[in-house]
Amino acid sequence: MNQAPHLTFDLDKPGMSTGHLVVPQGADCKELSLPVFSLNKRKGPRLLVTGGNHGNELEGVLVARRLIEWLPEAQICGRVIVLPVLNPLAVEACSRNTPLDGLNLNRVFPGRADGSVTERIADAVSRLLLPMADTIFDLHSFGPPWDFPPATTTHPIADTDLMAKTMKMAEAFKLPMTLVWEYDDTAGMFDIVAQNQGKVFVCAEFGGGTVGAANLAIYEAGVRNALIALGLVEGKAEHPTFRQEKSGQILETNPSDELKSPARGIFEPRRSVLDEVKRGDLIGILHPIDSLSAASVDIRAPTRSTVCAIRSGAHVDAGEEVAMLARPLKVSGMECA
Ligand SMILES: [Zn+2]
Repeated sequence: MNQAPHLTFDLDKPGMSTGHLVVPQGADCKELSLPVFSLNKRKGPRLLVTGGNHGNELEGVLVARRLIEWLPEAQICGRVIVLPVLNPLAVEACSRNTPLDGLNLNRVFPGRADGSVTERIADAVSRLLLPMADTIFDLHSFGPPWDFPPATTTHPIADTDLMAKTMKMAEAFKLPMTLVWEYDDTAGMFDIVAQNQGKVFVCAEFGGGTVGAANLAIYEAGVRNALIALGLVEGKAEHPTFRQEKSGQILETNPSDELKSPARGIFEPRRSVLDEVKRGDLIGILHPIDSLSAASVDIRAPTRSTVCAIRSGAHVDAGEEVAMLARPLKVSGMECA
């Protein structure tokens, strides 16, 4: 019979503790032990920070580990739980999904106790860690093969009060972009499950599969800014500088803002992230691979917008996304300056 998921230590113990979240074995995999850090200073905000949800997005894992280094000196109240690697099997394989069952952890929440290993991880996190927090930061990066500015993201939330609280938290990171990202494939996402329980959930996104010191510093500064805004640590928030720009932009994007490749080929980007474009501006060029006589195809902006993501790894298949555009945020009932 399966053991229940459990923690190897008491999260209610005051002060700093480390231990493991144990995900029980199943038919497909032996028991997993996920390292957990907890710093409990009793009264105050309750925050859960997770990284490694997708195994090929390692910036978040590194920032979560850095947080564990400086938090014991800095935290003045409340409770912070850090789980740097949500999906160790995907991180070990450096793949988005779990190799064993092929599942995307961020589409199987709240998980299943009798499911495959990815579902059992989601079940353990949903049952044992999610109830301990009112605010969750899930640290992702955009993953290869994309270029993406340091950003916090959320989906549109029907509950306007929770949406306003979530936007306030997302903006508190003071990263170059705060993005309200509407898309269809949201069933089973960690944030949807947390938001359905009334929790504030912010997803941080960054980069495209290459980890650099300067970029990590921006990401870490964003997380520190958010902890200051929550009152968990003292200090003054700073606007991290990204490509000489300091100001943050609040944008929204939906499926109609995706630009797709009309054919297989090599994509040459002609714009960088956060560039503003107007209708007809050249975003990139698709070069055919198998013919020197076939013409290259220009991919142009359909409307005035800002480039929020663009392919950096150049090989694309027909119908694959090559860029995402965004516009200043206008959500029904709410407009951000
Ligand atoms: Zn991700």
